[in-house]
Order: sequence, then structure tokens, then C-alpha cells
Amino acid sequence: MTIATTVSTLRFFRVRVKAVTDLTPSFRRFTFTGDDLDLYGDTGLDQRIKVVFPTDTAGLDDMPTGEDWYTQWREMAPHARPPFRTYTTRRVRNDVGEVDVDMVAHEVSGPASAWIARAAVGDEVMILAPTVHHTGVSYGIDFVPPARTENILLAGDETAAPAIATILEQLPPEARGIVVLEVPCSEDAAYLPQHPGFELRIAARGEAARHSHLVREVEAAVATLAPAGRGGDVEEVDIDSGILWEVPRTAKGGAALKSAPLYSWLAGEAGAIKALRRHLVTEQGVDRRAVAFMGYWRLGRAEN
Ligand SMILES: Cc1cc2nc3c(=O)[nH]c(=O)nc-3n(C[C@H](O)[C@H](O)[C@H](O)COP(=O)(O)OP(=O)(O)OC[C@H]3O[C@@H](n4cnc5c(N)ncnc54)[C@H](O)[C@@H]3O)c2cc1C
Repeated sequence: MTIATTVSTLRFFRVRVKAVTDLTPSFRRFTFTGDDLDLYGDTGLDQRIKVVFPTDTAGLDDMPTGEDWYTQWREMAPHARPPFRTYTTRRVRNDVGEVDVDMVAHEVSGPASAWIARAAVGDEVMILAPTVHHTGVSYGIDFVPPARTENILLAGDETAAPAIATILEQLPPEARGIVVLEVPCSEDAAYLPQHPGFELRIAARGEAARHSHLVREVEAAVATLAPAGRGGDVEEVDIDSGILWEVPRTAKGGAALKSAPLYSWLAGEAGAIKALRRHLVTEQGVDRRAVAFMGYWRLGRAEN
């Protein structure tokens, strides 16, 4: 039975859980296996993917997988369409047909968190991801630093941690910078790998206000790493109806600048990223062509 259909260099892979590993209290690794994972593209960095989850009223067989899958999906009755959410490929082992995706086990509030809480070996999902035939720029990768970057700032909350971990593993040893990460509890700090050129500033949220560490430490890092610039205005983005997604790149998809003293990659809850965008652009005057701002999720609002 052929489930997956080629959509240019992206396609759906039907996969089943081979192993569930609790890495820390909040990070659960799902190792997926599937007959055609030798074709799953390992583009690395923060490559985003869509994971389709089955529900009581919509199974994976109901998911349209052709080229116009999204139009067809939107035309389906809400209860009949399988929900999908955005995740990050953590690791690919084409030779043995395995893919790891690290998912945050947060309180059950949507289809992904419900699935994460109860998924067991053998359960199935579908993943929309690039294939090995993908060449050139991937628009699912938003980490696009200038070729000459003196320092890199990687910052976010727990949902950005899989992307930050993968980026850290792939940066050359001579890369320099700071990681600011806010996680639910202190044991979650063990999730991130070390990099010889990066200082990790990780804090557990605990009882503190959500994103207070993230905002405070990003402001401190930018104050030391970014040269002062002239503050500029930011256009308001309504994060409750739209998405905050500002990734500078050229028309061909490359970095917007050839060199920069600091390249910043900021991802997490949209309210925090919006506050950071205002601080960096309006107050610090950092060059927007060297900052990626990505609202990965919005407090109180489902992804779709
Ligand atoms: C590019 C990109 C990459 C991502 N990569 C990862 C990844 O690798 N691992 C990962 O775990 N997540 C990742 N996320 C975040 C993930 O897509 C969201 O957390 C997703 O909304 C969870 O879906 P849900 O069905 O549980 O909740 P939804 O149905 O989307 O939302 C229901 C409720 O849950 C709340 N909610 C959503 N996420 C969280 C959360 N993390 N903590 C607390 N409340 C939440 C919402 O505010 C809403 O009130 C990524 C997002 C993007 C855009």
C-alpha cells in the first residue's frame, strides 16, 4: 500500500513509534521507524517538519497527501481532518530507517500533547519532511547566519531546544556565542549538548514568571555582544491572530548579510519573542538583517 506521495522535495512519511525515551522530565524522544525512511532528508539545523496525529474521529488514512494536501485538508470538516503540529527533526539514521523527534511533554491541551502523553511503541503518525532528493536552500531551515559571524546568540524556550541542540551539534568548533534557554525544571538543562565555543545560560522556570529568564538573559547577552545601533520602529504583529515570523534572507534564500558581529536566532512562545523583537530592534537598534524572530507557539491558542 502506498501512503506517501511525493510533493516536490517534501513528502509524507507514515511512521510508527519504535522507542519512547524520557531524556529529562520535559523532553521525550520518539524514535520512529518506517519502510521508506531511507528517503527521509537529513537537512539538519532547525529543519521544521509537520507531524500528523490520529484522533478518535480522524485517522491517518483520512489525511490528504497529494500536492494540494493543504487545500484539501482545509476543506474537510474540522472533526474529520487529522490535526498536525510543527516539530523539528532531531536525528536521522537513513541506513537503519530511523528518525528521532524530541517532543515537550507539556500538560495535555491539544492533539500533540495528548498523543505525546500516551503514545506507545507501535503507534503511528505521519511526518511531512524533505526527502533525500532535496538540494539547495531549504525554506524549512531558518538558521541562516552570515558567512562571517563573530558571535551567535541562540535563544528560546523548551520548544526551541531540539532545534538549538541540533544547531549546536552542527556548528564548527571555532564558532562562538551564547545559548539562552528557559526550561520547565532544572533537570531539563541536561538536554542540551555542550559546544566548546558556547556559554550555556539555562534556567528552570520553576515558580518564576514564564519567560522572565529568557527575556532577561537575551537582553544581557545582546547588550554585551551587539554593537549599539540606532533604534528603529517595529511594525506591530497581532500574535493572537497571525504568526510572528521574521527570518531575514535574500531572494535566493541565503543570509541577508555577508558578515555581522552578531547573528541572533530567537524562537519560542510568541509573546516572549515579540517582547524580544521590540527590545532588540527598538531599544538596542540591532540590525534586523541579522536576527531571526520565530513565534513557535502562542499561549492560549492552538496551532491550527
Ligand atoms: C518551527 C517549529 C518547530 C517546533 N519544534 C518543536 C519541537 O521540536 N519539539 C516540541 O516539543 N515543540 C516544537 N514546536 C512547538 C509545538 O509545535 C507546539 O508546542 C504545539 O502547539 C503543540 O501542540 P498541541 O497540540 O500540544 O497544542 P495546541 O493544540 O497547538 O495548543 C493547545 C494549547 O496548548 C498550549 N501549548 C502549545 N504548546 C505548548 C507548550 N510547549 N507548553 C505549554 N502549552 C503549550 C497552547 O498555548 C494552547 O493553549 C515547534 C514549533 C514550531 C513552529
